[in-house]
Amino acid sequence: MGKNHRYAQLLLVCFLLFGFWHQNVQAQAVGLSDSEQLARALFEELIEINTTDAHGNTTEAAEAMAARLIAAGFSKEDVRVLGPHPRKGNLVARLRGTGSRQPLLLLAHLDVVEALREDWSFDPFVFLEQDGYYYGRGTSDDKAMAAIWVANLIRLKREGYEPNRDIVVALTADEEGGDYNGIDWLLQNHRALVDAAYALNEGGGGQVKEGKHLLNEVQLSEKVYLSFRLEVTNPGGHSSLPVKDNAIYHLAEGLARLARFDFPVTLNDGTRVFFERMAEIEVGEVAADMKAVTQVPPDPAAVSRLATSAYYNALMRTTCVATMLDAGHAENALPQAAAAVVNCRMLPGSSPEEVRQTLVDVVSDEKVAITAMGAPTPSPPSPLNPEIMQPIERITEELWPGVPVVPTMVTGATDGLYLRNAGIPTYGVSGLFEDIDDNRAHGRDERLGVKAFFEGQEFLYRLVRALSSD
Ligand SMILES: [Zn+2]
Repeated sequence: MGKNHRYAQLLLVCFLLFGFWHQNVQAQAVGLSDSEQLARALFEELIEINTTDAHGNTTEAAEAMAARLIAAGFSKEDVRVLGPHPRKGNLVARLRGTGSRQPLLLLAHLDVVEALREDWSFDPFVFLEQDGYYYGRGTSDDKAMAAIWVANLIRLKREGYEPNRDIVVALTADEEGGDYNGIDWLLQNHRALVDAAYALNEGGGGQVKEGKHLLNEVQLSEKVYLSFRLEVTNPGGHSSLPVKDNAIYHLAEGLARLARFDFPVTLNDGTRVFFERMAEIEVGEVAADMKAVTQVPPDPAAVSRLATSAYYNALMRTTCVATMLDAGHAENALPQAAAAVVNCRMLPGSSPEEVRQTLVDVVSDEKVAITAMGAPTPSPPSPLNPEIMQPIERITEELWPGVPVVPTMVTGATDGLYLRNAGIPTYGVSGLFEDIDDNRAHGRDERLGVKAFFEGQEFLYRLVRALSSD
């Protein structure tokens, strides 16, 4: 017993020494600065707190970051954890400025998409550094930004920096889904805490292809989601006595006309500059076509060639596509009803009634009733404001010479929707470069390059300083 006990003690000492040595080697080997070490530590802490909707807890993550801020000298009054549900807390932290300008809001979401151990090569909720990457659920979406916002806020505080505006960091719940979207709740219940002249958020980022830095994206707008129900009703009858007036045929022919239809090309400020800048990166016919679609009116041949890319097509126009069908009630009966769901992604600024009227015209069958399913949440595009775009371009040039800044519109949606809708222009920008052919956000073995993480941290540090000093 005694002998065993001594062995156990010796083992414990060795273990502790090894742990101490191992930690030091990890920190020193890569030669990290104090603020880089801090960002890495916060990143690790966040990855290892499960924040999925089903099993996780964003309050725990918000409180962990709050503790770091308090330890760094922020007052309790400037570091708040709050939310509508015990598991769905949000962090709002404030570095006070002189107040000569309206606050700047830095947003990231704490929640992550579900990740199952058996789907991954390793535990998704254990932070792992391997082969130049950080692995774990949330490394790419969106805990790198969350860790960077907090680490940089602490760095600015330590440096005694006095911004000309309050810098507000909000780390929120339920961006990926769930019933308690954090930024929506904060805007509705604590508007003063998060109110800002504008916000920086996820949704942008750098693109790498075959090891080469291609471009740094700034996301300015999002398409608007709205589904329509197409419905035909008919008295029906026995299928042994068919008539030409058939609910399924009416619906199918209407849908076939929709399949052949394309909404007109309409570029906004952001998408016009997107195609202009991409024309400089692309080569050959694609480059020429991108130039041609920015002309007024756009060249139809160029439009149809570019539209073979689903992504470019979605950037150029509103899209509506049939996604669900439901018709008939018995094998031996003429259908009394036939219905379809058509899901539209409208260009920001287009009117739901106009889109509905276009569907009516295209389907061109008065037997097909077309109604909107619910009301869309509008998302006005954020302006290409030079106060923001110029520093982004300058700092991009400092860190990655020759890499262009390209404004984009996302065809899906982020939390920027709630902010833009509340009148706070929102810019998706991160300076976090990822390989466009290896996107693992929401997928297995999610990761972010180690170098990319620290470059993004430096980019966002310089950008926040530039946006908060005269
Ligand atoms: Zn995200």
